[in-house]
Amino acid sequence: MKIIDISMEIRPDMIVYPGNPTPRIEQYQTVEEAGVNESTLILGSHTGTHVDCRLHIETGGGSVADLPLETLYGPCVVLDMTGYGQKITSDHLREQDIPEGMIVLLKTENSLKGYDHFREDYAHLSEDGATYLVERKAKTLGVDYLSVEPFQNGDSNHDILINAMTVFEGLDLRGVPAGRYTFAGLPLRIETDGAPSRAILIQEDA
Ligand SMILES: [Zn+2]
Repeated sequence: MKIIDISMEIRPDMIVYPGNPTPRIEQYQTVEEAGVNESTLILGSHTGTHVDCRLHIETGGGSVADLPLETLYGPCVVLDMTGYGQKITSDHLREQDIPEGMIVLLKTENSLKGYDHFREDYAHLSEDGATYLVERKAKTLGVDYLSVEPFQNGDSNHDILINAMTVFEGLDLRGVPAGRYTFAGLPLRIETDGAPSRAILIQEDA
């Protein structure tokens, strides 16, 4: 069995979506003065590898604490979309023969370009691509950049997807070949509109 970490490390110098706060880790107590080191964490709820939920798009909607656990763990397919450019469409996804009811992770050209600095031209789903994943009854979608929508475009991908499934953003799929895995992505149990998550892939036969 092989376990692959697909989470971004949370660091003060990591990329964040423009307008989101930069993570801060502030030590309030030290071994020297108090016997133990302890810190305050100041993070945007959509920092790095994180999960979205209904509260993100609808006041009063379900929070991260309400997400069904079945959507955070289970059989997963990683699709290699690195050759399809910046916009992943339903036609591209149809070529992949996606089984119904899966956790679907899209590895795009973002994984080839890396995460040294924020890029406004990141690869993303088209609206018809998002709709197609709903038709395939995907229970969870994971993408390899900080948003499921094009940069500051205001299309409806968040609405289309979050109304139908759980959405992870900011996965680091650089070291992951396409194929079948078991996915686990566990956010804190917290009543917010999103939460940083540790996400891993388990390869049972490796
Ligand atoms: Zn988000």
